[in-house]
Amino acid sequence: MNDRFVVVGAGTMGLGIAYVAAGAGYAVELVEIDRGRAAAAFDTLHGLWDRAVARGKLSTTDADASRARLVVKSDLDDVADAPDVIVEAVPERLDLKRAVLAAAEQRRPALLATNTSSIPIGELARGLHHPERFLGLHFFNPVWAMALLEVVVGAVTAAETTAAGVALAARLGKDPVVVRDMPGFATSRLGVTLGLEAIRMVADGVASPADIDKAMVLGYRHPVGPLELTDLVGLDVRLDIARTLQAAYGDRFAPPPLLEEMVAAGRLGKKSGEGFYRWEGGVKQ
Ligand code: NAD
Repeated sequence: MNDRFVVVGAGTMGLGIAYVAAGAGYAVELVEIDRGRAAAAFDTLHGLWDRAVARGKLSTTDADASRARLVVKSDLDDVADAPDVIVEAVPERLDLKRAVLAAAEQRRPALLATNTSSIPIGELARGLHHPERFLGLHFFNPVWAMALLEVVVGAVTAAETTAAGVALAARLGKDPVVVRDMPGFATSRLGVTLGLEAIRMVADGVASPADIDKAMVLGYRHPVGPLELTDLVGLDVRLDIARTLQAAYGDRFAPPPLLEEMVAAGRLGKKSGEGFYRWEGGVKQ
């Protein structure tokens, strides 16, 4: 029987994690509570496989094998006990993640992980019966293209759990860094700093979003500018992370009013069709 990999949440990240896990030979169960999103998940993943075949990155046989390894479910209760891995990828809210992790733990996974971008693993582990089997596996967007996997080790995470996380990274074709459990870990703490400052610069009228991004791409060799990256990540996701980091480190992470206004107006970036840029069919205009 195939090794079993469960992903909870079929949003931007959960879809990508499911795609990569199926490609690595796991039997994947993708659990999504929202019926519309669950139905769309199939189409999105099939579209990804079709595109990979069309671009010659995957053979039809391998793509079909990956498709056959994926099922979408609406409830963790429908997942059989003792999967190899459960990765939680629901929105960045402590109460929601804790509830999902408690339900996930009842399925008795060998490894339980969260894809949180900023919430301390220790906070999320509170209430778990086996916090020693729990760690952060912070994937990056788009998961199939990004090599990095941040393996976040909590104070009580067992050494074997960390080793299992690093081994999982290798199986998924990812390159891990092992990071101590601090809010924002290594990546979000630095990346969000740049993104928030870029948003303040837009509000100050320093330059257009396109020119601020161009300055970082051409001047600092960033592959993509901080505002376009914010659009790709999702402004709502970035706002949640900023609030978490503000609570941990103080007002240097206070969300700029412009970010709050844009989220309130539904300008969430690529996923809503408008953020600092306009997006049509997933393509920046
Ligand atoms: P998202 O909002 O796109 O997707 C979250 C999904 O979880 C939604 O489809 C939602 O319906 C579903 N969900 C909510 N409650 C659920 C439940 N109880 N059971 C099953 N599904 C449920 O969010 P996202 O951007 O994919 O982010 C998910 C996590 O990954 C967050 O913790 C975020 O901080 C982190 N993260 C995001 C990025 C990024 O670039 N977007 C990168 C790295 C990490």
